[in-house]
Amino acid sequence: MSEIQELEELIMGTSKVVGYHKLRTRKAGSTRQIDYHLIVPSDISVLEAHNIAQEIENKMKVKLTDATVVTHIEPDTIDMTIEPNTEIRRRDFRRVHFHGKRFHRRKR
Ligand SMILES: [Zn+2]
Repeated sequence: MSEIQELEELIMGTSKVVGYHKLRTRKAGSTRQIDYHLIVPSDISVLEAHNIAQEIENKMKVKLTDATVVTHIEPDTIDMTIEPNTEIRRRDFRRVHFHGKRFHRRKR
């Protein structure tokens, strides 16, 4: 499994996570920077969203020591979740209609 795939599994394996996109890593000397957009339910509290991000960061830092992690927290509104290359998990696997197109949310 590649480093990115490991991080993907780690993000999607965290409870309450709806999805993510724009995940990238880069090396800066001996340190590594991880940057991504984390999509969480729009109706949870800021505190809870922060705790989810913190849990993921901690797990990432266990996997990749010396990593710095930048998490952009986003709500699971339609404009966030239809961005290209967004990995999405929903409880209800609802079909979403947007601009006449039908999007199937992917089950994980
Ligand atoms: Zn985003």
